[in-house]
Amino acid sequence: MSKLYVIATPIGHLEDISFRALRILKEADLILCEDTRVTRKLLNHYQISKPTISYHQHSRLTKLKYISGQLEQDKKLALVSDAGTPLISDPGAKLISYLIERLSNLKIIPVPGPSALATILSIAGFPVDRFTFLGFPPNKKKRKKFFQGVINSKYPVIFYESPHRIIKSLEELDELRATKYELRIVVGRELTKKFETIYRGNVKQVIEQIKKDKIKGEFVVVVK
Ligand code: SAM
Repeated sequence: MSKLYVIATPIGHLEDISFRALRILKEADLILCEDTRVTRKLLNHYQISKPTISYHQHSRLTKLKYISGQLEQDKKLALVSDAGTPLISDPGAKLISYLIERLSNLKIIPVPGPSALATILSIAGFPVDRFTFLGFPPNKKKRKKFFQGVINSKYPVIFYESPHRIIKSLEELDELRATKYELRIVVGRELTKKFETIYRGNVKQVIEQIKKDKIKGEFVVVVK
């Protein structure tokens, strides 16, 4: 039976990876990486030298066929993204649905681990038994609708954001908020990394704090 392991990798701190994930990476015949150079750093850190190929959102049909062919030869494959859990705002869904349709004998095995989503929820400090995850806000169109959805949500909302747009997004959220009630937010910046910072407060307060810190790094936002 062919096996594809879908493996979560650290979102920053290289020690945030399970023993099982490391064992499977060591045993794999081929590792499918969102970016081979990024995953190489993790593999080098754990002295794992295994063949890697790239698989990302722009991969073509020939790549899917190649991967499918490898599995048909009963090779053991591992899929990883640059950071965190594959498929959560990361590539992998197209590949998995392609393989499920074609390989009746394929076992797809999750190897759980970090995700920025679960990491920020674990320290949010308010009930997150139920929540809504919205991934990245859209770039251009439908942003207002996106943020309206955030403030109208019955449950806390989590979204991802880049350093280039974090202030813009929070300001847009703040503008909408003016017509409603006060929002509390928790923003995680560079979680598990050297400059990890957690910002808490209303939207205006958090914008000011992030601006003071010069707005670098990766961000994940929880809105209550
Ligand atoms: N699959 C990943 C996961 O499970 O978290 C998410 C991939 S998505 C392309 C990358 C986004 O996740 C970043 O832009 C940021 O919003 C968030 N993110 C990833 N690592 C993070 C970290 N260490 N601190 C804060 N946010 C992070």
